Formats: sequence, structure tokens, C-alpha cells
Amino acid sequence: MIVLGIESSCDETGVGIVRWNGDGTTTLLADEVASSVDEHARYGGVVPEVASRAHLEEMVPTMRRARAAAGIDKPDAITVTIGPGLAGALLVGVAAAKAYALAWDVPLYAVNHLGGHVAVDTLEHGPMPECVALLVSGGHTHLLHVTDLAEPIVELGTTVDDAAGEAFDKVARLLGLGYPGGPVLDALAREGNPTAIAFPRGMTGPRDARYDFSFSGLKTAVARYVEKCDREGVAVPVADVAASFQEAVADVLTMKAIRACTDLGVTTLVLGGGATANSRLRSLAEERCAAKGITLRVPKPRLCTDNGVMIATLGAHVIAGGAKPSSLTVPTDPGMSVQVSVA
Ligand code: ATP
Ligand code: MG
Ligand code: FE
Repeated sequence: MIVLGIESSCDETGVGIVRWNGDGTTTLLADEVASSVDEHARYGGVVPEVASRAHLEEMVPTMRRARAAAGIDKPDAITVTIGPGLAGALLVGVAAAKAYALAWDVPLYAVNHLGGHVAVDTLEHGPMPECVALLVSGGHTHLLHVTDLAEPIVELGTTVDDAAGEAFDKVARLLGLGYPGGPVLDALAREGNPTAIAFPRGMTGPRDARYDFSFSGLKTAVARYVEKCDREGVAVPVADVAASFQEAVADVLTMKAIRACTDLGVTTLVLGGGATANSRLRSLAEERCAAKGITLRVPKPRLCTDNGVMIATLGAHVIAGGAKPSSLTVPTDPGMSVQVSVA
């Protein structure tokens, strides 16, 4: 079975093609992504209308490249991200998926973007056992419990305000470092001292929700620190701020992910989303997982950011699990709950 996945929930137009191997794994046949990230840079964040227009321009060329790379005329099934994501951006991918499904006379499966971030790891690291997944990107921060990739996922916690990647972007903007902020802050943090400034760890008090996150207080604390430096006429120790901020984010994310594994008796932790590129998040996750005997699985960076392969891979699992095809009139679901895997 050859499955083609279409992704357009944010600023990446992705078309991926995989072959289902029948043993819980897939083989990658094509992975084409066109990102509009550069077009959003001067606004300091993703502009939905700009993203939608870019999808419209890139969808057909990306599809053409993917089919050429895989050397196929048409797949056996099409899967598409139906939500969660930006309404206008999702519409472009879903409309395209419906048109191709109709033209090729193949079934359509409308799947949940978040499950794709977990499923994609099976490409490199084999079948997925029951796991806890920590998804961190510009738009999402979710702690999930996945028993089976073909089944609905349980959300353990999420952010009550900013997403983790968004916090990196906002702090970078505050420090005048440009967009996207994650890679710049990560590089700067290498020269700084992570214990120089005691930034707050949000939602870690005894009465706070066990698995939820909050990053807006941390962002405000960084802003106050910078203002204080300005007021006192001292130079902002930018590398120390970056390192201390990054440590606070990585500390809370990994602490709650490990806590979820321990509480549930789950021995596999999967990371996903563009912010998993963060070097400190990775090293701290490795350290803490090793200490607790938890297996850490992290897809390579290209597969952590949004792409079509993750949607094709999730689709293959869902189809193999016996899901029924979606209707060609299925609507997009921008606020889709993670508890729904196929619409
Ligand atoms: P999604 O729909 O999954 O939320 P997105 O476009 O918002 O998609 P991604 O493209 O997956 O997110 O990732 C981009 C985000 O990851 C940005 O917020 C960026 O700052 C952050 N990021 C990238 N590299 C790093 C890094 N090394 N450290 C921290 N954050 C990073
Ligand atoms: Mg993106
Ligand atoms: Fe994503």
C-alpha cells in the first residue's frame, strides 16, 4: 500500500509518500516541503493570510516533485491534515486532497496533525510501543499518551498560554534577535551560563496542574530583567539571558514529560515538533530519561518540523487499523481535539 500525505496546517506545504510495510513501519518514498517561513520573518511570526497564499502557490509544484521523486503516478490512498491548524491554510491542503482523491479515484483519510508528529518516528526507529509524546513547536505544546497510533490519543496536558516555540520567538524578539527565535537563542545560549539568572518555572507549584505548561510568565520575567538592565544602564548579558531562559523551558518540559512517564508506567518518550531542535531540550531529555530507564525517541530535525511524510505515515497506521475513508465533504477542523484521530 502506497500512501500520500498532504500537510498545510501552518507555514509548511508538505507532500510525503510512504510505503506501508505491514509491520508497523513505513518506507519513505518522497518528502517534499516548501516553507513560507522567510515571508513571515519581517512580521515576527506566522501571518495566516500569507501562509494560505503560499500554500496555494506551492501545492501543485510540491505534489509534482513528490510524485516524481517516488516514481509513482498515483497512490493507493491520500491522507491530509484536517486540523488543528490555521483555518485558511488547512483549507488549501484539504481542497487539494479532495480534488486528487476524486481525480485518481482513491480513498481520502482526514487525519489529526498532532498524531502525525508521533507517527513519523516509526520511519527511523521502528514500530511504536505505548508512549508519552511531548510535542513542542511554534503553535503547539502538548503532552500526550499514545497507546496505539491507529487509536485516538489522550491529551495529558497542554500550555495555558504561549507555545514553547512561540516563547523562544517572543524572547528573541525582545532581545532584538529576529525570527524565528529558536535557532538564534539556542546558538547564543552555548556561550552563556544557564544558572546566571533564576527565571521562573511556570506551573510547577504543588497546586498546579500536573501536566500543563505556562510560558508567558517566563517571557515577562525576561522582559523585566532586560528593562532593569536598561534602567540601571548596564549592558544586557544576552548570552546568559538566552542560556537561563532556555534552561527554564527545557527544565519544565522534560520534568513534566518524565513525570507523565513515571505516573503512567510508560517506558518510551517521543519528542516531536520544530522546537525539539533545541539542543538543551534534547540533552536534558536524554539525561533525565537515562536516569529513569526511559527510552527516548526523537525523529531527525527535518521530520520534527511539519511535513507531508508524518501525515502519510499516520495515515498508513490508521488505514491498517481499519479506519473508514472520510467523506469528500469533510470540513476542516482548525481547533481539532487530539482525541479525534480521523474525521
Ligand atoms: P506547528 O503547526 O507544528 O505548530 P510551526 O510552524 O509553528 O508548526 P515548526 O515549524 O514545527 O512550528 O517549528 C518552528 C518553531 O520551532 C519556531 O517557534 C522556532 O523558534 C522553534 N525552534 C526551531 N529551532 C529551535 C531551537 N533550536 N530551539 C528552540 N526552538 C526552536
Ligand atoms: Mg513551521
Ligand atoms: Fe506541527
